[in-house]
Amino acid sequence: MLKNSADYALRRRAEQVIPGGMWGHMDARKLPDGYPQFFSKAHGSRLWDADGNEYVDFMCAWGPMVLGHGNPAIEEAVRRQVAMGDCMNGPGEVMVELAELLTRTIPHADWVLFQKNGTDATTACVTIARAATGRSKILVAKGSYHGAAPWCTPVMNGVTEQDRANLVYFEYNDCESLRQARDRAGKDFAGILVTPIRHDMGREVELANPEFVRCARELCDTDQAPLIIDDVRAGFRLHLGGSWEPYGVRPDLSAWSKAIANGRALAAVTGREWLREAVRSIFVTGSFWYGAASMAAAVATIRTLRDTDGIGRMKTMGERLRSGLDALARKHGVALRQTGPAQMPLVLFEDDPDFEKGNLFCAIALRNGAYFHPRHNMFLSAAHSEDDIDHALEAADAGLRAVAEAAGV
Ligand code: PMP
Repeated sequence: MLKNSADYALRRRAEQVIPGGMWGHMDARKLPDGYPQFFSKAHGSRLWDADGNEYVDFMCAWGPMVLGHGNPAIEEAVRRQVAMGDCMNGPGEVMVELAELLTRTIPHADWVLFQKNGTDATTACVTIARAATGRSKILVAKGSYHGAAPWCTPVMNGVTEQDRANLVYFEYNDCESLRQARDRAGKDFAGILVTPIRHDMGREVELANPEFVRCARELCDTDQAPLIIDDVRAGFRLHLGGSWEPYGVRPDLSAWSKAIANGRALAAVTGREWLREAVRSIFVTGSFWYGAASMAAAVATIRTLRDTDGIGRMKTMGERLRSGLDALARKHGVALRQTGPAQMPLVLFEDDPDFEKGNLFCAIALRNGAYFHPRHNMFLSAAHSEDDIDHALEAADAGLRAVAEAAGV
């Protein structure tokens, strides 16, 4: 980081007033040197750091920007709602409109409950499952991320063993391991919480295998325990009806957030009829959970994705990026491992246990105008154009050349 940069100056100021200067997953020190911490503006598929450098954005705010930054239709919907009222003594009419739209769009959804963040939604799902079954043990995959509350945060500092006492772990995509976890839960089996794809940081993205998906559904059916899909990250990027729709397997509960309102803070739980009473029986709330503007943004986001085949466009552009990267990797004699759905790509390098190649690739690509991530799945948005992808591929060309040179290829 250059000492005379605006980003450097902001980091120094932040260190004085924010512990460590930054917290959580957006701490740029976890990224290769040169990655900016602060941004000044974003439009469509592009964003600009505090020093004015422009990037084609392949993180999309880590998921929320599904239609691109500042999408005019969404921003207009927000402006209209704000002009009428946003944070009021209760929700606006738009809450009912959004809940109706979601129940029409998502086949398993008979009702909806709104929150603000993904963690709110996954936590509410777990609470609903326990209230519905009167049981406590929730089965979760080892290494899956479900949020940052004490019951699920990946870091144990400040968290007690008791906070985790009612989680039982299984291996993702392993039906036998799932059955064993269910047996360990015994009579206290309250449900399975699972991400629709395995998108753990730093390892290849794995699609769920159909046998595993069926196995999860069957175990839940046998004991009338909810199957919960954590669609916070993949939701509205893979399938508008829920990410396991292509398998023909429907959950009892789903947690949504990120892409639901194109960057406005909103989360939702959707669920089946048999859980309606359990939802009525619990108490969950938040000062900002009823805000009307983000709900107006969600109505506009879901309609736009639906009416413009937003998911199809993301997929096409993601495939263009993937095949372009493959061709460049062959040209430079570098072996890539590209995994994940094209809309949520992950690029890793063969023989790169410490991510040295990935970090070098990303650092050089960044300097050439593409904002990639070396370890986390990335995100396409419907705002990415062919020009954006081609520009990013030029940046990737420089990055791959640097990797090849460093490896002496
Ligand atoms: N579940 C998954 C699968 C996620 O990716 C995330 C966020 N990365 C969460 C839950 C938590 O969402 P939030 O950060 O909005 O609380």
